Amino acid sequence: MEKDSANEIDNLPGVGPATAEKLRESGLTELMDIAVISPQELTDLADLGLTTASKIIQEARKMVNKDDFKTGKELFEKRQDIGKISCGSNTLNELLGGGFESQSIIELFGEFGSGKTQIAHQLCVMVQLPKEQGGLESHAFYIDTENTFRPERIIQMSEARDLDPDEVLSKIHVARAYNSSHQMLLLDKVKELSKEVSGRLLIVDSLTAHFRAEYIGRGALADRQQKLNRHMHELLRWSDLNNGVVCVTNQVAAKPDAFFGDPTRPIGGHIVGHTATFRVYLRKSKGPKRIARLIDSPHLPEGEAVFTITKEGIND
Ligand code: ADP
Ligand code: MG
Repeated sequence: MEKDSANEIDNLPGVGPATAEKLRESGLTELMDIAVISPQELTDLADLGLTTASKIIQEARKMVNKDDFKTGKELFEKRQDIGKISCGSNTLNELLGGGFESQSIIELFGEFGSGKTQIAHQLCVMVQLPKEQGGLESHAFYIDTENTFRPERIIQMSEARDLDPDEVLSKIHVARAYNSSHQMLLLDKVKELSKEVSGRLLIVDSLTAHFRAEYIGRGALADRQQKLNRHMHELLRWSDLNNGVVCVTNQVAAKPDAFFGDPTRPIGGHIVGHTATFRVYLRKSKGPKRIARLIDSPHLPEGEAVFTITKEGIND
């Protein structure tokens, strides 16, 4: 498996073994990675001249663009395969048109404590259920950047549904990401693992925290957005290839931030916003109550849903 993608990069005109190795070391392991990068970024990453970099990108694009265009009929047929994961709350499921949809990225954004991580945990339990019960009968992948994944919480949620907690835990594959590069590298691992187990849920909690901490100040903004953009597109591609659900979390800045503008806006701004298929804004209400608001959906009306977080998990 590793070999196939390696060969693809090695087969690119203008890429010798040394360059191929550099590309892989920079995390560019597949043709698509190269096809979507900018010449300047490739130049920086792989020590190439700008002309060579442009040429390599062009070749990569030729090779991945083979079946760019699909007919409306083909796309419609593909959409018939869409699966939905229940999040435990009927009102929130309804807001999203029946649940968390595969072949898409759902972004949960909101302030600290608004329920992003709790929903992520609940989805990891629900995805394992049979279809009739709101699942996709598959495993879950969890990229944890804030060290907030808690097996104890999965046990509580499993017990509330009469599921064997050991079994549920054994189907959740969690990796802690130590920085943004590691986070992107872990996505490559997920791609590999997806060939071995049927995992149709991928959580990235939080999508933006590392990027935000590492790329500070105006000068770093373009670089950060470019990296985030690539990460988002790789996530989208995973969801497409695996007919899976990608759920990412994003914290809104609590304090006004002189560098990044509007404090009520989610981190990553238009890059994350335009790539996510669904954006759900979460906010706290009284006690266990939370309010979810759907923003910018391609085919659903905007609206709000109230749900609760209790010991048993997410509910109406
Ligand atoms: P964030 O949006 O920052 O990821 P979380 O999803 O971690 O927020 O939500 C944290 C909130 O979830 C807590 O403030 C609490 O209200 C609720 N919560 C977490 N664990 C439990 C539990 N075992 N029982 C009841 N409520 C819980
Ligand atoms: Mg959290």
